[in-house]
Amino acid sequence: MRILLVEDHEALRGLIAGHLGGRGFAIDAVASAEDARSALAAAAYDALILDLGLPDADGMEILREVRGRKADPLPTLILTARDGLEDRVRGLNAGADDYIVKPFDLTELEARLRAVLRRPGRAMPCPSPAAR
Ligand code: CA
Repeated sequence: MRILLVEDHEALRGLIAGHLGGRGFAIDAVASAEDARSALAAAAYDALILDLGLPDADGMEILREVRGRKADPLPTLILTARDGLEDRVRGLNAGADDYIVKPFDLTELEARLRAVLRRPGRAMPCPSPAAR
């Protein structure tokens, strides 16, 4: 399983990559939206772990781009320090499969990642404007 991790916090990025790498995942870890776009264009991933607070873009932009161009939905787990209900709903409506609020336990992150990887159908459909 090849996972793209997008997290600008260096220590956290290292912790997540180290934990998941030790549990059998192949992790590509990047720190910016620009590097995330390059990685997504260059390789096929089984899942995306995406921080929303990135230095050069809102992670939500990356999520929308991924949802807009991928025929096969890329399971996506959002990392966010924002614990407001609105951000969670926005993320889920934009096509995230799950989210985890910082600070979190690495074993919980791993469990949620495994859950989105095995979920059939994966992403919830975005509501159409007419259905709102
Ligand atoms: Ca961040």
